Amino acid sequence: MNSPTTDTIIVGAGPIGLEMAVALKEAHVDYLQFDAGQIGQTISWYPQQTQFFSSPDRISLCGVPLHTPDQNKATGEQYLAYLRSLVEQFDLKVKTYEPVTQLSKKDDLFHVITSKGNYTSKHLILTIGDMHKPRMLGVPGEKLPHVSHYFEEPHRYFQQRLLVVGGKNSAVEAALRCQRAGAIVSISYRQDQFNERSIKYWLKPEIDWLIQTQKITFYPSSTVTEITPMHVQLQTTEGAAKVPADFVLLMTGYEMDPFLLKQAGVLLHGKNQAPEVDFNTMQTQVPGLFVAGTAAAGTQIRFRLFIENSHSHVVKILRTIAGCDPKHINPLAYTRLNENPIEEDLKTER
Ligand SMILES: Cc1cc2nc3c(=O)[nH]c(=O)nc-3n(C[C@H](O)[C@H](O)[C@H](O)COP(=O)(O)OP(=O)(O)OC[C@H]3O[C@@H](n4cnc5c(N)ncnc54)[C@H](O)[C@@H]3O)c2cc1C
Repeated sequence: MNSPTTDTIIVGAGPIGLEMAVALKEAHVDYLQFDAGQIGQTISWYPQQTQFFSSPDRISLCGVPLHTPDQNKATGEQYLAYLRSLVEQFDLKVKTYEPVTQLSKKDDLFHVITSKGNYTSKHLILTIGDMHKPRMLGVPGEKLPHVSHYFEEPHRYFQQRLLVVGGKNSAVEAALRCQRAGAIVSISYRQDQFNERSIKYWLKPEIDWLIQTQKITFYPSSTVTEITPMHVQLQTTEGAAKVPADFVLLMTGYEMDPFLLKQAGVLLHGKNQAPEVDFNTMQTQVPGLFVAGTAAAGTQIRFRLFIENSHSHVVKILRTIAGCDPKHINPLAYTRLNENPIEEDLKTER
């Protein structure tokens, strides 16, 4: 049986995938869109009530204002509500809970296999994000039930001994919130101090004060060597330390799964495994295959691509595929058209 053919397939329905879909729809380009989970899947696992660090005007999509009840930065929950209303407003048809499992190109057509069917298209746009799996420490005990790479909410840790591993924003935010929610918190970080460039600026004085007043125990320059049901074994500059812990949160970052890019023959570069992308068009070296959003950076060791500097990807791709500009787009898209935010990283990493 022949697979249904469309002009363009978009894989991923996060913010940039949805903004891309609106642009294609309004340019009358036939497209299909798939997401492995629900729309905004990555944002749905942000810890409850986490605020974006980006202001609402920077993460708003398709020129539709994003209002918050207190005129402050949006929480993950508020942003998901905004994404749902965009899908309804623009009547987008997203095939959710339908992961793309295989990609190939033959006779100038992309062959896309999902969990539910086979499809073909002339163009393929990967807006698959860059946070597919946790960065594993590779130590014994990492998969025990009281150990998690995802911080969901602080209540679970009330009056429990919690060790947070990591020292960037998500680790510090989890430690602060859990301490305020009555947990007995320790932090293990492989560096000797927190870098203020990696933490929301208002969190740094708070965490420093809680450590100084011994409300949070800090193990600087330490690495985890083993996790048991009762303890975490750390190696510090002063020797081994055995830290009692009822729960362990491994806030050590996330990685991109490049399997789709590899299957499609896209070249990957550097430690980031960043796809080969011409930042003038967002086209990879495979003709007709585009990458947009944070996926264009690969695994971000230093964060360079965010929602606010990915709106321009939509303009570049639409110009290449349809020869026109989007009808509705975040105005920031046009101010960032000439940027390649990962260029420097690739030069130093190659
Ligand atoms: C706690 C936290 C706070 C953050 N705060 C900010 C912030 O303030 N500002 C900011 O810009 N960014 C922030 N980020 C990062 C933000 O989540 C990303 O910038 C944003 O989600 C990227 O959008 P995207 O559309 O490129 O990709 P994503 O939102 O990651 O969307 C990718 C989509 O592709 C889907 N997908 C992946 N593989 C497949 C497949 N094989 N088949 C089908 N679908 C697939 C996923 O399910 C997902 O829905 C934060 C992240 C975290 C964890």
